[in-house]
Amino acid sequence: MNISQRGLNLTPSEPRKIYDEAQKYSGVIDLTLGDPDLPPPENVKIAASRAIMDGKTRYSANAGLAELRQKIADEADREYGIDFDSSKEIIVTVGAMEAAYLSLWSLLDPGDEAIIVAPFWINYREVVKSLGAVSVFVYTRQEDKFIVRPEEIEKQISSKTKVLILNSPSNPTGAVIPADVLDRIAEIAVKHDLTVISDEIYSRLVYDNKKVESIITRPHMRERTVVINGFSKRYAMTGYRIGWALAPADLIRVMTQMTENIVACAPLSSQYAAIEALSEQTDEAYIRREFEQRRNCVISELERTENISCVGIPATFYGFLDVSASGMTGEEFAMLLLKNKKVALVHGSAYGGDVYRNFVRIAFTMDCEKLKEAFRRIREFMKENKNE
Ligand code: PMP
Repeated sequence: MNISQRGLNLTPSEPRKIYDEAQKYSGVIDLTLGDPDLPPPENVKIAASRAIMDGKTRYSANAGLAELRQKIADEADREYGIDFDSSKEIIVTVGAMEAAYLSLWSLLDPGDEAIIVAPFWINYREVVKSLGAVSVFVYTRQEDKFIVRPEEIEKQISSKTKVLILNSPSNPTGAVIPADVLDRIAEIAVKHDLTVISDEIYSRLVYDNKKVESIITRPHMRERTVVINGFSKRYAMTGYRIGWALAPADLIRVMTQMTENIVACAPLSSQYAAIEALSEQTDEAYIRREFEQRRNCVISELERTENISCVGIPATFYGFLDVSASGMTGEEFAMLLLKNKKVALVHGSAYGGDVYRNFVRIAFTMDCEKLKEAFRRIREFMKENKNE
């Protein structure tokens, strides 16, 4: 078969590679994939089942059910104090993943540049590449707790730059961009006429009673921001495949036309489940509470583990750990740890190249007992592979 060059150019997913490798062993503790193990709220499950049983199983409007878009608009109003027109400025998508794809597809022509803050969620780079556009990376540093330096974004802007992608809280570092840094980034975006894609999928998994802010609330940003969000993480609904984007009407119109050509609409039963999820009956607090406890567990295990450090995990269910003191690169560490101790995690370079060769990412989507066992094995591994 003659496969397209575009298709052949895609990079095989490194986290998936490790995940697949891990399937060859038994008794593996798998810290690779960011897929919450908790169940969605009970009323959400019932709403999804009921939708199927009631025959609500046909297509909806391409942009999603009007009732769901209205609920998303209401939530956006509460979150940002911004009034969105639910019939023009919102699209319901097949996960935040489709929202990311549609927005990049609608904003980038071949040769255009998108600035991506590294380390990053791999999909951004791959989608940009598949569109014949170019990713330009801004590398955050451990010493800055992986918070981007706005002046470094500005340095990377060229006449071809169209888009800046922000992901706060971040996969893979858990970093949350502070308010004053968002102010500066917004000024830069306005000055250089950039569109910002703000991926806020982890906005509800923020710990220590903190809240994350969105760049869309900054002056003149509403007209140049695409907010991406979804139900996967906050309600533990990854398999429902449902998310959304908020953006100016002209962009949503193009995204909606394109979705007609890819998926027609998000699965209808999931749309009904999403309406229920955004209703007042839903108590989703157990999900954040559970991940916060696990975060605490990971931090206390890390304190007992020599030669691995982490600058903190203020949000998400990921930890980006520095293993340089082990004398191994992240990749060597990941491969050997899997082989010798049956703990699977992903090397940091998968999320931004060589700059992050000394890191590994863990996803703590399992209970504390398993996490403790994972760290017990990691400590044993470190002892056996001591860097003399
Ligand atoms: N954005 C980021 C940063 C993610 O980590 C993920 C999932 N891993 C997504 C978007 C996509 O989420 P979904 O499509 O399940 O809503």
